[in-house]
Amino acid sequence: MEGPGRVRPMRPTWVEVDLDAIAHNVETLQRLAAPAELMAVVKADGYGHGAVMVARTALAHGARRLAVAVVEEGVHLRQSAIACPILVMGWTPPWQYGLALRYDLELTVSSEEEARALAEAARREGRRVRVHLKVDTGMGRLGLRWDHPRLAEVAARIAGLGGLELVGVFTHLATADDPDAPLTEEQLARFGRIVATLDERGLRPLLRHAANSAALLRLPGARYDLVRPGIALYGLEPFRGAVAAFDLRPALAWKTRVALVKEVPAGTPISYGATFVTRRPSRIAVLPVGYADGLRRALSNRGQVLVGGRRVPIVGRVCMDQVMVDVTDAGPVAVGDEAVLIGRQGDEAITADEMAGWMDTIGYEVVTGIGRRVPRIYLRGGRPVAQAPLSHLL
Ligand SMILES: *Cc1c(COP(=O)(O)O)cnc(C)c1O
Repeated sequence: MEGPGRVRPMRPTWVEVDLDAIAHNVETLQRLAAPAELMAVVKADGYGHGAVMVARTALAHGARRLAVAVVEEGVHLRQSAIACPILVMGWTPPWQYGLALRYDLELTVSSEEEARALAEAARREGRRVRVHLKVDTGMGRLGLRWDHPRLAEVAARIAGLGGLELVGVFTHLATADDPDAPLTEEQLARFGRIVATLDERGLRPLLRHAANSAALLRLPGARYDLVRPGIALYGLEPFRGAVAAFDLRPALAWKTRVALVKEVPAGTPISYGATFVTRRPSRIAVLPVGYADGLRRALSNRGQVLVGGRRVPIVGRVCMDQVMVDVTDAGPVAVGDEAVLIGRQGDEAITADEMAGWMDTIGYEVVTGIGRRVPRIYLRGGRPVAQAPLSHLL
């Protein structure tokens, strides 16, 4: 990563990440969560925003810890000189224990066997590994099931393993985004009982945590010692209305530039399969972005883009590297004009959540799906301060 002044002009399709928005979101969430600590979830390259820049910003604005899904993501942060505790929330396979230990990552364990194997690896390397015990209270994913008949004994045995330090116990909620789902209450009740049982046995892991973004915002009882927001850090919706209600700011904009404008007669087919045929004399703009960049093919003949401050429809199929939009009603449009896929232009805005709606998915999938081929530009005070990755083609 270098200052933008030192790099050559990049391709005309890029993502802008507003670090001030990330900072604002972290501070807003930290204020809500206090006295609980905030662990910024930066898995999947910071939900597509760039893990290192998001992590640095989050840590500078109140986050105390980071969480990732896989060991390599943690290693990447360490190699970028990030020294805070980093939790790997996913399953770490035994062949990555050495790597995780070397880079001082905290790991998640879901069973006693896993904890034993990990402790043994740590002893072999002359190290201590910090672990968080995951409890499955109803998500049905990783974790020791809450109704395990001897959960407290298992936890006690894990805590007693040499080479291992049990620093946390946590669970993950399946329905925290849905105020009507009875499962959330049940999961929290189960977790509460487990925490109490551990307490009775004098086993009080430093960090008890349960709250993703939705739970942090909606459920004060889920905050415990540590909250684990992801999506809300980025200013996207953990549930509908959250961004407005909690004054979160979307950090990511995705832009491109018009590559070509052409006037075509009625009856002109556009793109593969000729699924769109102009019904009137039309102006069609070609944009140099496609599904290989993460502009999903499901948006063919469905999505919209902002050009000249107006919404214009995607026409025909989204190609691997290009897409066409109908700018007949958009006023003057010239080659090089900016087109916005996600973000603001004039008085109009398209959010990742709106784009997600067009293809029946969630904002999470939209932003994590923006391809590595798309450079990320980082802004502070509205000005670019860094770019990543530098193109290997230069
Ligand atoms: C991804 C993840 C989070 C963050 O979830 P958001 O909905 O993005 O806030 C928290 N905890 C775990 C275990 C996760 O996998």
